[in-house]
Amino acid sequence: MLGLSYPDSMATPAERPPSVDKLARSLANSGLPHPLLVDIAREAIAAGDPASVSHRVDELQRSLLQPVLNATGVLLHTNLGRAPWASTDAGSYRNLELDLATGDRGSRQAHAPKLLAKACGAEAAIVVNNCASAVMLVLAGLAKGRGVAVSRGELVEIGGGFRVPEVMEQSGANLIEVGTTNRTRRADFANAVENADHDVALAMQVHQSNYKIVGFTEAPTTAELSDLGVPLVADIGSGLLDEACPWLTTGPPPWLKNEPAARQTLDAGADLVVFSGDKLLGGPQAGIIAGDADLVAKCARHPLARALRPGGLVLASLQQLAMAYLRRDGDAIPFWRMASVPVDELKARAEAIKAAATKGHAATVVDTMAVPGGGTLPGVEFASAGLAFAGNHREAFRSSAMPVIARVVDETTIVDLRTVDPSADEALVSAIDSAIE
Ligand SMILES: *Cc1c(COP(=O)(O)O)cnc(C)c1O
Repeated sequence: MLGLSYPDSMATPAERPPSVDKLARSLANSGLPHPLLVDIAREAIAAGDPASVSHRVDELQRSLLQPVLNATGVLLHTNLGRAPWASTDAGSYRNLELDLATGDRGSRQAHAPKLLAKACGAEAAIVVNNCASAVMLVLAGLAKGRGVAVSRGELVEIGGGFRVPEVMEQSGANLIEVGTTNRTRRADFANAVENADHDVALAMQVHQSNYKIVGFTEAPTTAELSDLGVPLVADIGSGLLDEACPWLTTGPPPWLKNEPAARQTLDAGADLVVFSGDKLLGGPQAGIIAGDADLVAKCARHPLARALRPGGLVLASLQQLAMAYLRRDGDAIPFWRMASVPVDELKARAEAIKAAATKGHAATVVDTMAVPGGGTLPGVEFASAGLAFAGNHREAFRSSAMPVIARVVDETTIVDLRTVDPSADEALVSAIDSAIE
């Protein structure tokens, strides 16, 4: 039946359902491809409600991947793809695995990973699909069938089902738990390494990204674990490159305190660090393994590296990001630009948006608190500003031409400007006009 018109003889005009094809064609200006419109038309007719097509078109359009305005004040919003990052590379061929100097086969790990290594002071680096795969590859490449010593206080679960003990099992390495949940010392690691039964190949530190253990606690520093006689791997997760944030003219923001950084973790004696590309690094989804050149090369040679390799789009985009870090240009990295905007600037924008929206009289300029998010820096908040609207308008904001993701606190809808790029303020004004009665 797909796409066929009903013959005229089938029914009288009054009860004849409209032709699927004709109905689909009438929706052409929705911009959706014809086969999708045919499905919509057929479903609407089958439901006995041809008029429902425009609603169905809206529904389908809203189900597609698209840009949205993050007005939640959560800088790394997992549901919104964590860090906002755009590559400006036009579609074209790339020398992904071609050495332009020699004309020979090259390596996709020769460009962005090298620059990222430079940016965090590592000898070498490779990039894989995400940090979970980075951990997996390091364990499989360096400790398959052997022991990996990890503190009982760091057997974490990060969001989305990343659980250290399970990743360990999948990699083929054996988890050797050391210490206790709240207190682990260097001696606990040293004992595990000395125990021949454990056959420890690696010691691993895992950053407690999304929780805190407080009270009677103790954990060895990276420096203390750097001379155990086995390589030390630190999963720092968040991807902060350098504690000193040389890419910010204002220096490191106070809320970053105690967040481990790749450069300092390597300086303190870790042989490898692994981290995400789309958390505090501010780039696309990726996982970076950086540090000792021999260990990095060993990971790169493992067959899993082929399965976990990133595509050219991600590598091209990471290369731009690494260049921004090397130029110390935090302004070129949306995450850092948004994270470091002074509150006064956000307030001035809030006033301007309120004045520009024809329904702006319903808004109040308010102080808010933004959070880094993305499972990083639990409990950290910093000052922000935005607009408040009485009542819950979350769905109306999501339905606007440029969907706006707002949050609701005590029956008040908050639009936080910390996470909205100023270039989107005009779209936000239109969204307010469409969302607020
Ligand atoms: C976020 C995180 C991961 C997982 O990173 P993905 O890039 O999401 O795979 C692993 N380890 C730590 C410590 C993390 O914070």
